[in-house]
Amino acid sequence: MDMSDGPRMNSELRGLLRHDEPMAKHVSWRAGGRASAFYQPADVLDLAAFLRSRPAKEPVLFVGLGSNLLVRDGGFKGAVVFTHHALIGIEVESEIATPRGTLAFRASAGVPLPHLARFIAKHGGGGAEWMAGVPGTVGGALAMNAGCYGGETWNHVIAVETCDRSGTLRHRAPADYELGYRHVSLLSGNDEWFVSGVFGFAPGVEGEVLARIRELLEKRVASQPLNQPNAGSVFRNPPGDHAARLIESCGLKGHAIGGAQVSPKHANFIVNLGNATARDIESMVDHVQLTVFEKTGVELVREVRIVGDDA
Ligand SMILES: Cc1cc2nc3c(=O)[nH]c(=O)nc-3n(C[C@H](O)[C@H](O)[C@H](O)COP(=O)(O)OP(=O)(O)OC[C@H]3O[C@@H](n4cnc5c(N)ncnc54)[C@H](O)[C@@H]3O)c2cc1C
Repeated sequence: MDMSDGPRMNSELRGLLRHDEPMAKHVSWRAGGRASAFYQPADVLDLAAFLRSRPAKEPVLFVGLGSNLLVRDGGFKGAVVFTHHALIGIEVESEIATPRGTLAFRASAGVPLPHLARFIAKHGGGGAEWMAGVPGTVGGALAMNAGCYGGETWNHVIAVETCDRSGTLRHRAPADYELGYRHVSLLSGNDEWFVSGVFGFAPGVEGEVLARIRELLEKRVASQPLNQPNAGSVFRNPPGDHAARLIESCGLKGHAIGGAQVSPKHANFIVNLGNATARDIESMVDHVQLTVFEKTGVELVREVRIVGDDA
């Protein structure tokens, strides 16, 4: 549904605009180049006004917590829209019709998933526990169909709100998208970004839900290199197998290129040893992909997004 009836007012922008912004500060790999323009909108209407104000052909990149993203060392020649700390509303949704027994929660694109998981737990919902350990935003999770431990973002989506290049806001339903494992694409082919989502969850008992969150977080601490900059799983799991198992079977655990290393703790994680360039990380990604293909015949598909220009 198109919600922009009436003339388009190009109101004065109220957000924070910066130029030549180092993106290493905003991605969890803590590496990579700069963005020509960087905008933290004041709210959704300000976001729409910002998008309308940019040259029509300028590339636009939405960034949440940058936990699945690398900007190459030559930088991103375009505008980055930073939703974290910007689009932050979260509430129990009472106006949307939901199936009987389902509780609905509305969260803006910049809300961190761990925050949403705890909000749902404290307001009587269950089944969002898996979100507590995914260090991304609602917008990033909608774009990636993030998931783990049996949970997946779009299994809970009742509706989303999007914004396009012209600043037009729309309500969309899951049926408007092609959805799969770490795959989301708008069937109409339109270029739109997520502004918020309404998620449905079954009722849960707060104490039990919080205990399950603790249990899942402990599992992560035990199995993932959380004390080193990383971007989570680099590759999708191939059908019926695990990328980590394949990478380990090729003897790649601990292998390093410059400052990028295949984590000795979890083979599907590449960690920044402290001074990695985006080139080191991408070379490591390519090396793992090629080695696994040569030794096992399996073509690993990248889950992390790599954008921008080489230095
Ligand atoms: C330690 C660690 C553990 C992780 N564990 C998991 C896990 O268990 N399961 C899992 O699925 N992922 C996991 N991840 C990866 C990552 O957290 C998820 O993919 C997350 O959903 C990314 O969210 P983000 O806000 O950081 O997105 P970003 O990294 O900022 O962006 C990722 C992509 O989404 C796009 N995007 C961001 N916001 C929007 C928006 N509002 N509208 C449209 N597009 C947008 C970006 O342009 C980019 O293409 C992990 C990462 C780390 C570092």
